[in-house]
Amino acid sequence: MARDHQKLLTMNALTITGLKKTYDNSIKALNGIDLTVEQGDFFAVLGPNGAGKTTAIGIVSSLVTATEGSVKVFDYDLNTHKEQAKACIGLVPQEINFNQFEPLLNIVMNQAGYYGISRGEALKRAEKYLGELQLWDRRADISRGLSGGMKRRLMIARALMHEPRLLILDEPTAGVDIEIRRSMWRFLRKLNEQGTTIILTTHYLEEAENLCRNVAIIDKGRIIVNDRMSNVLRKLHVQTFLLTSVQPLPSNMTINGFVTRRVDDLTLEVDMTSEQNLNQLFSELTPANIEVESMRTKSNRLEELFIRLIDVKDEQES
Ligand code: ADP
Repeated sequence: MARDHQKLLTMNALTITGLKKTYDNSIKALNGIDLTVEQGDFFAVLGPNGAGKTTAIGIVSSLVTATEGSVKVFDYDLNTHKEQAKACIGLVPQEINFNQFEPLLNIVMNQAGYYGISRGEALKRAEKYLGELQLWDRRADISRGLSGGMKRRLMIARALMHEPRLLILDEPTAGVDIEIRRSMWRFLRKLNEQGTTIILTTHYLEEAENLCRNVAIIDKGRIIVNDRMSNVLRKLHVQTFLLTSVQPLPSNMTINGFVTRRVDDLTLEVDMTSEQNLNQLFSELTPANIEVESMRTKSNRLEELFIRLIDVKDEQES
């Protein structure tokens, strides 16, 4: 009994081994990915556009065929037990893909029908999930008139109708305003606490930071980071400033004690750790003969994270 319990605790919701995908146009979207997501985890898949995230999700949800490698969803191998594996997964794709002229209730009820769920049970679930996602009052409306945030929530309700053990969301809050985004986060967090394993891709670092315990970062079809979210965020405890110089910057310039990157003739990027301050930076700029015209912080933290981690990886490999 104790051993069974242990097994349950350590079971993987997803095990990906040596996954490769080459599309018909010879684009190598995935170059051999290994990844495990534990049952109960809240997992972020991050990476720049074109990195291979949607391809990986497509393969896991049986929408795209892998060129090589294996995928296991809980105990079910996609190669041998595809239907069972599919039944474990709820997918919220990026594109809105329901019939916009159908009433909301029909959309979720039909989904339950695909999974052979009785009408009575389906209605109970529809009330529960549409209700929790603040859509129950709109159940008789056609979905075309819904706001973007409502459509995204409808996609989530639909994906939950067969109560999957693993919910995969591809950019669930893209373009949704911050208040609705936060209410979606609360919903997803509760769902995760109740036992559903969740994997999401996002463009908002804040989203991954708020929700996810573990993270994989994909770049050019490879996993370059697979770690706890907290460890990855620690790498970000550096602020980056962009300085515009009055005179052109020398090509091989350095600033004592600071990590710098020359962006162009007049722009210098400077990293500042939590132990350093701006006074120290400016006192080093004068002896280096740099007169600063203006300064701004570099704001896109997610892009910054990718660049930093991808640079480190490239350096290690060269
Ligand atoms: P991401 O979701 O990280 O933006 P994708 O998985 O969508 O990345 O894309 C990875 C690469 O595969 C990109 O170069 C993209 O152009 C290519 N790609 C994606 N889907 C297809 C497809 N159906 N046919 C051909 N190439 C594709």
